[in-house]
Amino acid sequence: MVNFLINKLPGYFEPTLTIRRKHLVNFFLALLLTFIIHKVIVAIVTVKIPIFGFHDIVDIQNPKEMPPLRPDFQSDYSQQDLEVFLDYLVSHNYWFMSTQELYDYYLSNPRKPIPAEHRYQKKVMVTFDDGYKSVYTHLLPILEKLEKKYGKKAKVILFINPAFMGRHGTVLDKANCQELREGFQKGFYDLQSHGLNHENLTTISFKSLERELAESQIQLRKCTQGLDGIETVASHIAYPYGAVNKEVEKSVAKYYLSGYLYNSLTFSLSFFKPQSYYISRLTVNKKHSVGHLENMAAGGWLRNLIRTYIKVIE
Ligand SMILES: [Zn+2]
Repeated sequence: MVNFLINKLPGYFEPTLTIRRKHLVNFFLALLLTFIIHKVIVAIVTVKIPIFGFHDIVDIQNPKEMPPLRPDFQSDYSQQDLEVFLDYLVSHNYWFMSTQELYDYYLSNPRKPIPAEHRYQKKVMVTFDDGYKSVYTHLLPILEKLEKKYGKKAKVILFINPAFMGRHGTVLDKANCQELREGFQKGFYDLQSHGLNHENLTTISFKSLERELAESQIQLRKCTQGLDGIETVASHIAYPYGAVNKEVEKSVAKYYLSGYLYNSLTFSLSFFKPQSYYISRLTVNKKHSVGHLENMAAGGWLRNLIRTYIKVIE
């Protein structure tokens, strides 16, 4: 293979080259090939699942939701852009995974077999932290609109602090229990825990930590009481501020099946045992264009390359 390349690159391999130099070039070409082969193998065996982490959703055409009438947060995202992004994901046949699905098909031991209808779909998870009112006023209408347009239900994950449900008058309003129940009942919300009071779990006492974890689960399950399909409510957690350590993990494992970070990385699964309590999420903020989010959703470089190639020959 290396000799073949040398023959194909005559300009670089004039007869004046000493044998020593040739050996050096051979060595570097072999190194380069090994690197490329390694990258390709890793890309083939690694399953990448982009998990997007949104916060509050803002209608940028409504002056009341824009500064100076409303505080400006980096983590806000425009309702208009969100609709375009979700439309892209639904129309491109993405599988909107729930936290329980990720656990059942990729993290648990043994794993459940992936249902036939999802086997060849591209995977994505769309999460919203802190339970802002906008998940009901701005997000739910988009999901309902897309269901009407495409006949597909896009499921989103809400990481909730039950102590703040229905709270008004603080910086931003929070969705109340009735609103969360409605979205859940309609099949759009996957309701999961974000701790009870949005405390940094790595800095509080053991007693407070246990309370944050246990009470959050109890209250969220109480809120959804009487609804169908509540077995998976508050079975998974996103750490407030993405903060976790080994001690926290030990307590979390008593109550929850998996834990989500907020570290701007794509969640990857390889040969090794999956790190169920260290699931990476992609942080989203107002600076991210829809095109940028679409690229992140497209997955690994090899898949992108294959998709680009297919587009070119189409
Ligand atoms: Zn949060």
